[in-house]
Amino acid sequence: MTGYKNEHLSFSRLSRFETCPLSYKLHYIDKRQPEPGLPLRFGKLIHAVLERLVREAVDDERSGPLSEDRVLALYRDGWTAEGLTGVDVFQEGLEILQRFVREQGVLEHRNVLAVEKEFRLPVGPFTVLGYIDRVDCLDGETIEIIDYKTNRQLFARDEVDSSLQMSLYDLAARRLWPWVKKVKLTFWMLRHGIRQQTDRTPEQLDAARAYVETLGKQTETATQYPPRLNTNCSYCDHRSNCPAYADALKGKREFLCEDLADLEAVAREREEVARLAKALYARKDELEGILKTHLKDKDELVLGGVRYRMFATTTLDYPIEPTLTLLVEATGLSHEALLAKLGAVDKKALDALLRSLGKKLDKPRVSLLKAELEAHADKTHSPRFWAKEVA
Ligand code: SF4
Repeated sequence: MTGYKNEHLSFSRLSRFETCPLSYKLHYIDKRQPEPGLPLRFGKLIHAVLERLVREAVDDERSGPLSEDRVLALYRDGWTAEGLTGVDVFQEGLEILQRFVREQGVLEHRNVLAVEKEFRLPVGPFTVLGYIDRVDCLDGETIEIIDYKTNRQLFARDEVDSSLQMSLYDLAARRLWPWVKKVKLTFWMLRHGIRQQTDRTPEQLDAARAYVETLGKQTETATQYPPRLNTNCSYCDHRSNCPAYADALKGKREFLCEDLADLEAVAREREEVARLAKALYARKDELEGILKTHLKDKDELVLGGVRYRMFATTTLDYPIEPTLTLLVEATGLSHEALLAKLGAVDKKALDALLRSLGKKLDKPRVSLLKAELEAHADKTHSPRFWAKEVA
């Protein structure tokens, strides 16, 4: 036992421990000053602006479209207060906020149950403290929990369906509003204009409780806090105090497999290289981001004997009908014959369509449709290497 006691648990505390025990120790036990990078500060600002914008409408009992002028004023003030710089990032934030106002459409103030709602959820011997971005009331028994995300990438379906954060919010909401029978959980992906939605069964909620209690105990009984290099190391707010990250950036290696017939040794080196590669790729992206920013003002940069330029790559999508019409005229083949040769629906586009249909059709119907579509799909299989740490 370390004798370390949590004052409370929170999703970010648990997630930090899971992602990298060293980061957890530096943050919560050693209480080192965090140095959040631009993405974290930017995300915090966007959240603060949205919170204020919606809260003002609710407090003033105003219904209708949100004001673009007001969102700009709040964003400007927050930007200055945060000390952020960079015209591109400013523009990015503005586009995110304007898109939010458009997508929100008419806000009915009576339907917003809470904004930035604090909760304290007892879980075993712990109290989980948290804040929910927004809770909307959909009808007399249903609420929608909304978590705004500025992530560049959408979540995979299983990430949404197994998100511990959302499970905690669901548990907390049922305690805060005991009349609630159904809870809709929504990640509002602000950069994409997509709301990724899910819900939880009572069994999933029980499992989440048990998991939080187990993880909470682990945070108090841990005696070692090893670094766990990962793709987010370059955004870690304690990276400047992390020897593992410093070593990774220098490409420092600990283990080299000398006997390639020794599978244990092969696997050990493979894991070390995979962790380093993750950190180095993320660092490469960070460095390239800086160079790309400078290439917006210049055609090229020549640095250290290397020439850097941006090239526009073009991707073409051919709309079905006009393309087929031209091909029919040129080849004399029938519309049907050409369609059979060329026609295949892109999986991404189909998934997006099914997601949007999911809002209108009931779940069993969408599942059946998916199964039927899959039965007609042409499948190609390619071998893929897979590795996951054994718990
Ligand atoms: S830089 Fe990476 S390995 Fe180091 S503390 Fe942060 S998350 Fe952990």
